[in-house]
Amino acid sequence: MHSRDKIRNIAIIAHVDHGKTTLVDKLLQQSGTFRENEAVQERAMDSNDLERERGITILAKNTAINYKDFLINIVDTPGHADFGGEVERIMKMVDGVLLVVDAFEGCMPQTKFVLRKALEQNLKPIVVLNKIDRPNARPAEVVDEVLDLFIELGANDEQLEFQVVYASALQGTSSLDPEKQDDNMGALYETIVEHIPHPTESTEEPLQFLVTLMDFNEYLGRIAVGRVNRGVIRQGQSVTVMTREGGMKQARIEKLFGFQGLKRVEVEEAGAGDIIALAGIKDINIGETIADPNKPEALPVLKIDEPTLQMT
Ligand code: GDP
Repeated sequence: MHSRDKIRNIAIIAHVDHGKTTLVDKLLQQSGTFRENEAVQERAMDSNDLERERGITILAKNTAINYKDFLINIVDTPGHADFGGEVERIMKMVDGVLLVVDAFEGCMPQTKFVLRKALEQNLKPIVVLNKIDRPNARPAEVVDEVLDLFIELGANDEQLEFQVVYASALQGTSSLDPEKQDDNMGALYETIVEHIPHPTESTEEPLQFLVTLMDFNEYLGRIAVGRVNRGVIRQGQSVTVMTREGGMKQARIEKLFGFQGLKRVEVEEAGAGDIIALAGIKDINIGETIADPNKPEALPVLKIDEPTLQMT
């Protein structure tokens, strides 16, 4: 297990086309998370069919990057208002957000929608002014627009002191200075590890894990993704599942996964503050708590309102 102070859990939020996918691809490429023979081909988010079948490739949402001795978990977030419940759940799972804004286009409707959700959860965003390479980029004005938006949405004093990183995801560059770009994403990585808090939950307490996102695959069945809220979770462990209706059932953790790059990697155990995926619990669903059978306590129920969850 990583030492808790070396973990960063962040969500990436943006209006569509402002460059989230390109940015995550570049962060992955530059981190060395990929071995050389695994170089990111074209777009990292496009996954290989065979791997998807076997349940290794993650369905676009989770990426984990090793930077120095840090593990940075990045959770992608839908920008569309239909997915308000999902965005809210993701915001509860992370300790900070990257708000990506196009340095020419400025704030757009989905920028506002996702930023509101982040501010409501008391997260302190890092603003990434992307596409700084565009000849018509207007970074100073856009930073002002972003500040106005924070104020309009009722940001608190701490949130208003957001860090700004200027970047070109396309060129793989970033800087704290709008006038000149460094030739890598170092400024962005450093801002993340310095300004996003690490998890503070205790691994010493009885297990509690909230199912926040669901994935499905034919090989593994239902895959529950979430953050360990307290304690330690282990492969093979017997647990109590607490349903949204207040029921309880016994189950076993068949497989446990951490994330590495765009893949799931099997792990023996994970601790409070880790974002993980698990398989082997047949009817598991969003909003259910997986707990220590000796101390089954449910976490607060989560909002679910998006249409995709109609599927079973
Ligand atoms: P997403 O919808 O937020 O995931 O956006 P994408 O990463 O798919 O990017 C949308 C478009 O913007 C693509 O055509 C990218 O090539 C382009 N793009 C992304 N980042 C940059 C950048 O830093 N500079 C420029 N000029 N274009 C970019």
